[in-house]
Amino acid sequence: MAMGAADVIVFLTDVIEGVTATDEAVAQRLRRTDKPILLAVNKVDNDNRELAAAEFFGLGLNDTAFISAYHNYGVYDLLERIVELLPRRELADAWDGGPLSLSIVGRTNVGKSMLTNAIIGEERSIVSPVAGTTRDALDTAVSYRDHEITLVDTAGIRRPGQVQRGIEKYSVLRAVNAVHRSDITLLITDATELATAQDAHIAGLSWDTNRGLIVVVNKWDLVNRNRFRMERVLHRVRERLHFMRYVPVCFTSALTGEGIEEMLDTALSLWQERQKRVPYRDLQYLLADAVSTHTPPSQRGNIRNRLRIRRVRQVAVNPPTFVFSVNDPKLLHFSYQRYLENQIRDRFGFDRTHLRLIFRPER
Ligand code: GDP
Repeated sequence: MAMGAADVIVFLTDVIEGVTATDEAVAQRLRRTDKPILLAVNKVDNDNRELAAAEFFGLGLNDTAFISAYHNYGVYDLLERIVELLPRRELADAWDGGPLSLSIVGRTNVGKSMLTNAIIGEERSIVSPVAGTTRDALDTAVSYRDHEITLVDTAGIRRPGQVQRGIEKYSVLRAVNAVHRSDITLLITDATELATAQDAHIAGLSWDTNRGLIVVVNKWDLVNRNRFRMERVLHRVRERLHFMRYVPVCFTSALTGEGIEEMLDTALSLWQERQKRVPYRDLQYLLADAVSTHTPPSQRGNIRNRLRIRRVRQVAVNPPTFVFSVNDPKLLHFSYQRYLENQIRDRFGFDRTHLRLIFRPER
């Protein structure tokens, strides 16, 4: 699962131990993946060990680095290699035109299985099946309002009546992997318990990887519902996820089916928002307006230490990513970045998605 979630795999071995049977087995498994692999042989502290390390070439992995983590030898070069191998997402168009992939994650017993079954279960199904279009056997392809949706890692859900087994201890890693493989994550919480630290952790992961997120408050049938209660729940969720002010929150009951279509509609509209492209000219107008309304403050009262923004371009969708060309990114204050983000949100109607703002020195 960790391999599935990774962009680059570093296989770390120990020159003192030499090539072990486990190393052989792992290498064999690694040769089957098409991900970039770096073999790092650690504890290469001196020349003798370097000679011994040659043994690791026998593992048949091409890219090998001898390092000593203790002496900090070769580590920087390894890091450079890793960075070279990382995909350059931000400049490419992240959207490959494929279906919306949706993951359903959350703690045990919050209702993930029941919710998934309510969506794709045989009876009363909200969606219709789409045969054989997923890239992965673990996933399920469905069609909802004429949109194709891939539900990620549905193999992990329990069928109705099935008892849960020992797989639960892997659930965090499983959730991490599912988030990585999806465009939008439905983070399921229990209305009677609400967001916990673990939920905040998954939300943070979704944020760090620029994925879309929707918080779902399930088991809504169990609480005494009224407007006041809903406001309080919203407040609690937003408090927990304070760094994601705009995250949509949905209320569902997997038991009665209530709110599930609304949740899927929210996912579709978030998805559409994440595909939105703003014309170049409109962005320059926005920039001119924003800067003339609020000039970036100069630092330490020195006019030469003022941030100057030459232009802004949208370089990617999913999530919408904007690159600002500036004189010196170090002059950017966090509050001014927040201001620019709010301007883009208000003007172009980005209400629910994460936006990426990148500030680069102009060339
Ligand atoms: P998972 O571990 O997240 O997959 O949770 P399950 O789907 O297995 O659900 C855990 C328990 O909560 C089961 O007993 C379900 O019947 C119950 N449950 C799930 N969703 C709801 C809901 O919306 N309302 C109520 N009342 N019970 C629910």
